[in-house]
Amino acid sequence: SIILVEDEPGDAGLIRYSLKFSSGEPNIHWVTSMAALGDHLEQCQTPPDVILLDLNLPDSTGLDTISRCKAMAPEAPIVVLTGHDDMGFSLKALEAGAQDYLIKDGVEADALLRAMRYAMERHQLERRLQRSEELMLAAIEGGNLGIWELNLLDDIYYNSNRLLKNLGFEHGSANPPHDASEWMKRVHPDDIALFRAALDRHWQGQEKRFQCEFRFRHGQGHWVWQFSSGHVVSRDKAGNPVRMVGIQQDITARKAMEQQLRDLAMHDPLTGLFNRRSFMEAMDSEYGRVRRQPHYSTGILMLDIDHFKHVNDTYGHAVGDDILKAFAYTITDNLRENDIFGRLGGEEFAILLPDTDRDGSAQVAEKVRAGVAAMRAQSDNHTIGITTSVGVAMLSASEKRPDGALARADTALYRAKQGGRNRVEQAENPTDIVTVST
Ligand code: GH3
Ligand code: MG
Ligand code: MG
Repeated sequence: SIILVEDEPGDAGLIRYSLKFSSGEPNIHWVTSMAALGDHLEQCQTPPDVILLDLNLPDSTGLDTISRCKAMAPEAPIVVLTGHDDMGFSLKALEAGAQDYLIKDGVEADALLRAMRYAMERHQLERRLQRSEELMLAAIEGGNLGIWELNLLDDIYYNSNRLLKNLGFEHGSANPPHDASEWMKRVHPDDIALFRAALDRHWQGQEKRFQCEFRFRHGQGHWVWQFSSGHVVSRDKAGNPVRMVGIQQDITARKAMEQQLRDLAMHDPLTGLFNRRSFMEAMDSEYGRVRRQPHYSTGILMLDIDHFKHVNDTYGHAVGDDILKAFAYTITDNLRENDIFGRLGGEEFAILLPDTDRDGSAQVAEKVRAGVAAMRAQSDNHTIGITTSVGVAMLSASEKRPDGALARADTALYRAKQGGRNRVEQAENPTDIVTVST
C-alpha cells in the first residue's frame, strides 16, 4: 500500500498513471496536504509500505515536511518527490530521514518502482541496525564492557572510553599507551605467554575466538584482572589477520572472590593451617618430586598434643581452641617459609619439610617440641603450658603410596606417647626394613 502526498493534480496523475502502468493495480491512496495525510494515517490499521512525499504542500514546505511526516508515520519509509534537480537539497532530504528521493520532471515508472522498493529495503535495514545497536548498548552497559579494536598492520590499538576508564586512563589522568606493543608491555609477565598462546590459537584457526584472563597494570600502578574476548574480522590475501575487534571486562572482584573461596576450601578455619585435604595434596606432589629426583628428600612430622583432653576438661573448650591457635602460631614461627603445616583433625597435626634430610628433620622436630614446651598461654588467672609428642619419618622414592611415610610417622608418634610424651621418636627407614627382611 502506497500513500501519495501531492497537491499538484497534474503531477499526482502522472505518478498514479506510471504506477498503474508498471505494477498493475497497486493499493494507492492520494492526499493533497499534511492535514489530509494525518487524517488518513489515523484510519489506517497498518502503516503503509511507502509514502511518496511532495515537499511543497499548502500546509507544509521544505525539509520540515519530512520531519512532520516521520513523526506521523515513524514505521513508513519515505520517498521524496522533488521538483528541482538539486543534488544538495536531495542529500539534505536523506539526512532529514527520507529513504530516497526522485526528481518529478523525469519520473519513469521503472525508476519509481525501484526507488520505492529500495526505500522499503533501506528502511527495514535501518530499523534492524537500530535494534541491534540498542541490544549491543544494553549488553555493553550491563556488562560494563570495554571495546577494543586492533589493527595489526600499523600496530594501532583503539579502546573505548569505558575500557580506558576501567584500566585507569580516564580523561585527564595518566596517558594511555600509544600502540599495541605498548599495551602488551602492561600485561603481567606471568600472563604474557598465555595471552600470546590464546592469540596464536585463534589466528591459526584452532579456536573460534581469542579469549584470555590476564593481569594488567592499571594506570595508577596496581594490577587489575581483565577478561578479553575477540576475533579477527579481516585477513589479507595470504590469510594473515589484519584487524581484530573484541570486548574486555574487569574481573578483579570475581578473581578475588575465587581466591577467597579457594583459600576457604584449603584451610582450617580455626588455625588457618592447611586442612587435611590440602595437606594430602601437598604430600602427593612432594611424593612426585621425591620419586623424580634421586637426591631429594622430604621429612614428615606427625604431632599430637599431650593430654589435651585434660586442658579441655580443666579450662573449657574455648580455652582449648585458643591453645590450638597458639600451638599453630608457635610452630609456624619455628618453620621455614616453604614448610607445609597442616591440621589433620582435632589436635593432630602434620608437617612436611621439603628438601630436608633425616638429621635435618630430627632437628626441626626437636626445635618444634621445645618451642611448644616453652610456650605459655594466659587464661584468666592461669598460665597454661602444654607439650607435644612428635613422630618423624622420611618420604622416600621406594614408597608404594605417599601416605606410607605418614603411617610410619604415626607409629613413631605412638612410640613417643608410650615413651612418656613430650619427646621425638624417629621411624625406621623403609630401606632399613627391607635390608632386615632379606
Ligand atoms: P594424649 O594425646 O597425650 O594421649 O592425650 P589426649 O588427651 O590429647 O588424647 P585424645 O586424643 O584422647 O584427646 C584429644 C582431645 O582433643 C579430645 C578433644 O576434647 C580435644 N580436641 C580435639 N579437637 C579439638 C578442638 O577443635 N578444640 C578443642 N578445644 N579441643 C579439641
Ligand atoms: Mg589425639
Ligand atoms: Mg593428644
